[in-house]
Amino acid sequence: MKHDKKLEVTAIENGTVIDHIPAGSLFKIIDILRLDRETHRITFGNNLESKRMGSKAIIKINDRFCRHEEINRIALVAPHAVVNSIENYEVRSKQQVEVPDHIEGFARCANPKCVTNIEGVETAFAVVKKGDGYALRCKYCEKVTYPEQLEIIK
Ligand SMILES: [Zn+2]
Repeated sequence: MKHDKKLEVTAIENGTVIDHIPAGSLFKIIDILRLDRETHRITFGNNLESKRMGSKAIIKINDRFCRHEEINRIALVAPHAVVNSIENYEVRSKQQVEVPDHIEGFARCANPKCVTNIEGVETAFAVVKKGDGYALRCKYCEKVTYPEQLEIIK
């Protein structure tokens, strides 16, 4: 069993550990994954020391394994996040998040006149550019939303 004392957050027996989250993105991820509604035990640490990132955040969700598309949503705010599936205190799989091709329901369209903002229609975007600066094109109004405009719908 690999034991990393640097984690500063207690190990979990089974579940998901999301690591390498930029410190400023922790609460955005809580919104994206709707962790405020989660009934499983969650522990998180923010502003933890990281050699790679300066400071980072970690989220641990007990007894829950996240779906691929669910996890990839967080790539919008934590492009270098790594998602570990833990079983019996051991890392069973490690997954680097990836911006998905389509995004539905949690990001707001930057166009205030868009039907999704006026009539409460669920948002839907095609990801037309990936990488450091992604671009989300709204399926309703075709306006593009950029990372600096990203707002998470709660
Ligand atoms: Zn729109």
